[in-house]
Amino acid sequence: GVSLPKPKHRRVLTIANQKGGVGKTTTAVNLAAALAIQGLSVLVVDLDPQGNASTALGAEHTSGTPSSYELLLGEIAAVDAIQKNPKNPRLMCIPATIDLAGAEIELVSMVAREGRLKTALSDSALDELDLDFVLIDCPPSLGLLTVNAMVAASEVLIPIQCEYYALEGVGQLLRNIELVQAHLNPALHVSTVILTMYDGRTKLADQVADEVRSHFGGAVLKSVIPRSVKVSEAPGYGMTVLDYDPGSRGAMSYLDAGREMAARDASERAGTEVSGA
Ligand code: ADP
Ligand code: MG
Repeated sequence: GVSLPKPKHRRVLTIANQKGGVGKTTTAVNLAAALAIQGLSVLVVDLDPQGNASTALGAEHTSGTPSSYELLLGEIAAVDAIQKNPKNPRLMCIPATIDLAGAEIELVSMVAREGRLKTALSDSALDELDLDFVLIDCPPSLGLLTVNAMVAASEVLIPIQCEYYALEGVGQLLRNIELVQAHLNPALHVSTVILTMYDGRTKLADQVADEVRSHFGGAVLKSVIPRSVKVSEAPGYGMTVLDYDPGSRGAMSYLDAGREMAARDASERAGTEVSGA
């Protein structure tokens, strides 16, 4: 039949886990790069004052650069903070600068303090970019920055490190997600779980993977991210691992994860079209 224009469908995912060092930032930038390589338009919003996602994406993020901080304050429009990746313009970033470090406290006294990122990302000027995915990289806490991310998104992606105490703190994260769901954003749900820093030589890694799969079921991506030195080296060169060493196991695993997410997305779209017909 006649092909209709693709319905606007921008998926917004918050990458959260209040535990530090589990691979949130690494997953945000490399998954974004993997989705962009497939022809999708992806925006990474760096909400961690450390600015590690900005660094890995080669984005300028010295103090004063238009960033997520000014966005939260309502001083600038989202389009004015976006930097396009020089190698792939479909891969975009709103950087975080050190200015964001004070935002957690500054936000407390502001009106609509939990919904400021959502408001900024609802700007119709963003429609021109035809974004398929927005990935929000959160700081390792459950404070107002993470709450802003959870209000702006409809999905949560949880990276879980295949280590001892992997699920420690996940219960608290899930309770926070429920609170946000109940009071601020009914659409919020855990759509995706990704296992990171997997070491196939250890029995423990498999035990953790099994435990996570039995807990989260189909939300867990089949693609698992191995522990790989290339993955940890790439940000030091201002690159994603896909640019730094495209043939490495780390790069391949993020490509797989990106394909899996895009494939799920395509089948969900098809499902929506069928049920909406
Ligand atoms: P978070 O954002 O959750 O704090 P990061 O993504 O910054 O975690 O990762 C923590 C550290 O682990 C970083 O030094 C990063 O380079 C490293 N790392 C992340 N994923 C991998 C991996 N698959 N293999 C090896 N090192 C990794
Ligand atoms: Mg991080």
